[in-house]
Amino acid sequence: MNATITKRVDITHDLWKIWIKGEDSFNFRPGQYCTIGYGGVERPYSIVSAPHESEIELFLELVPPQTGVLTPTLFRLQPGAQLQMRPRAKGIFVLKENYVNHLMVATVTGIAPYVSMLRQYLTRATSSHKFFVLVGASFKNEFAYNVELQSIAEERPNLLKFIPTISRPDEMTNEGWNGETGRVNTIVEKYIDLFNLEQASTLVYACGHPSMISSVRASANNMGFAFQEERFWKSDE
Ligand SMILES: Cc1cc2nc3c(=O)[nH]c(=O)nc-3n(C[C@H](O)[C@H](O)[C@H](O)COP(=O)(O)OP(=O)(O)OC[C@H]3O[C@@H](n4cnc5c(N)ncnc54)[C@H](O)[C@@H]3O)c2cc1C
Repeated sequence: MNATITKRVDITHDLWKIWIKGEDSFNFRPGQYCTIGYGGVERPYSIVSAPHESEIELFLELVPPQTGVLTPTLFRLQPGAQLQMRPRAKGIFVLKENYVNHLMVATVTGIAPYVSMLRQYLTRATSSHKFFVLVGASFKNEFAYNVELQSIAEERPNLLKFIPTISRPDEMTNEGWNGETGRVNTIVEKYIDLFNLEQASTLVYACGHPSMISSVRASANNMGFAFQEERFWKSDE
């Protein structure tokens, strides 16, 4: 189906958000992805918005033109531009409610499915689950959902613990950062201990960078935790 970009917000020189509206209704479960096309090229994108929202929100990273095919074109598009969108959402990277605790690990754009899951979860009248979101980036300005997640964590401390971490604390761009430091995969075991997470009641999720995912999966396996992943691209490992 055709879909129109209705809004765009630039985050950094290579990260941006778009909101799109399809000509037909589009059903999905939080955590699933949509398939976007332009000029005959299609790519999957995890959906940030929750199903009750009227538009589909995506958080995109530009892969430089020497390597990337679709994103250099998408990056030039402004509100009003028309895309193609497959009519069905796909993916099994969704909330598994049989676990009470959900430890969700992301790099940069990999936060998308967790935001969708949380936005939907917050519409419920009662809550019996707990969320622990760890997100990593090189630079503090790459976090596009920290304000939203931080405010949920402050209002609902029993529902959400939120830990952003930067991997290059000594860079000028990160001046003033007083949060966690180090790559997100290196802090997973520490926070499993700090949050007192137990194997039987906890599912570990990892989404985004393939090397981060391999590392978190190894930690989860070593510690005996159930694990599910969504890789945004393949690595050579
Ligand atoms: C299930 C799923 C969900 C996804 N969700 C998102 C999302 O929410 N936001 C998003 O920006 N992307 C997401 N992606 C990646 C997206 O589908 C594209 O691969 C990406 O936008 C690059 O497209 P491209 O055509 O420019 O480059 P491609 O032709 O797809 O890739 C070119 C090369 O760059 C590598 N690559 C792809 N993405 C990156 C990256 N971010 N950083 C470094 N190297 C990369 C690829 O492995 C390949 O070697 C998702 C991928 C999958 C499989």
